[in-house]
Amino acid sequence: MNGLATGFVLAVHGGAGTISGDRMTTSRLASYHDGLCLAVAAGRSILAGGGRALDAVTEAVIALEDNPLFNAGRGSVFTAAGTQEMDASIMDGSNRRAGAVAGIFGPRNPILAARAVMERSRHVLMIGEGALSFCREQGLAVAEPGYFYTEERRQELQRALDGGEDARYRHGTVGAVARDRHGNLAAATSTGGMTGKAPGRVGDSPIIGAGTYADNATCAVSATGHGEFFIEHGAAFEIAARLRHAHQPLPDAAQAVLDSLDAVGGSGGVVAVDRTGATALPFNTGRMYRGYVRDGGAIHTAIYDEPYRVQSM
Ligand code: ASP
Repeated sequence: MNGLATGFVLAVHGGAGTISGDRMTTSRLASYHDGLCLAVAAGRSILAGGGRALDAVTEAVIALEDNPLFNAGRGSVFTAAGTQEMDASIMDGSNRRAGAVAGIFGPRNPILAARAVMERSRHVLMIGEGALSFCREQGLAVAEPGYFYTEERRQELQRALDGGEDARYRHGTVGAVARDRHGNLAAATSTGGMTGKAPGRVGDSPIIGAGTYADNATCAVSATGHGEFFIEHGAAFEIAARLRHAHQPLPDAAQAVLDSLDAVGGSGGVVAVDRTGATALPFNTGRMYRGYVRDGGAIHTAIYDEPYRVQSM
C-alpha cells in the first residue's frame, strides 16, 4: 500500500490473538471478516462525506465494541476474579488532545467514555469509580452486566486459569486509525485487556504513547498485543518518533518497533497511517484481524499473513 498525498485512509484491527487456531472454523472466519468490514464501512461513511478522522475512528471502534466476537465492550474478556474491566483511549492528531479511561465496567461503549474525557473534562486519563461517575454525569449509555457477558470468554478464562491458554491467545483489542481528506489524523483503541489479568491491571490500550498515539505531523497508531511490553517500549510514540527524528518511512518504523518487542517476547501488532496516507499493519502473532479502505477504493480485510479479501460492501 503506497502513500497518497490526498484522500482519506482508514485502517482497523480487531486484535492480534483472541482465539487459538484449533478453534477457528470457516463460518467464524467469515463472521470476523464481516465484523471488520462493517467497522471499516462505518468509518468510511464519515470520511467519504468529508468528515473528520476523529469521528471515523470513533464510529469504527463502536462497531467493533458492539460485536461480541472482539475483545472490547460487548465480548470483553474476564479477569482472574471473573470480572470485566475495560480500557479505551482516543487521540486527535490535529491538536494532540487525548482522552482515556481504564478499569471501567458499565458504559456500553468505552471509546465514547474516552472521548468524553477528552472533550468534556480537564483530564486525559480517568479510572474506576471516578471515571464511572463522570460517564453518568455525561449521560453516556450504560448497559446491564449481562450485555457484556459471553460464554466463550468465560471458557477462555477457565482455560487460562487451568494454564492451557498461551499468552498469545489471551489478548485481543480493537482499534482504528484514520487520515481524513483535510489531512487530520486520529487513533482510537478499546479493550477488555488480557484474559485472566489481575483485577486492577491496566495494559497499553489507554496509555497515550503506548497503545494509542496521533499527531498530524507524523502518524496515528493503534496497537494490540501483550500490553506490558508495549508500555515499556512506548510503542506507539516510538513509531512516531522514528518518523519525526529519523525520517523513517512508516512501514519501516512500525516494523522496527515490532521487531524490538519481538526480541523480548512481546507479541502483538499495530495499525498505523502517516500524514501522507501511507499505512502499515504489521504483527508478529500469526494473525491480526485487520482491514483498511482508501478514498475511492474497496474495503480490504485479512486475518492471517495472507492476501486481503476485497469486500463488495
Ligand atoms: N493490549 C491489550 C492489553 O494488554 C490487549 C491486546 O491488545 O490484545 O490490555
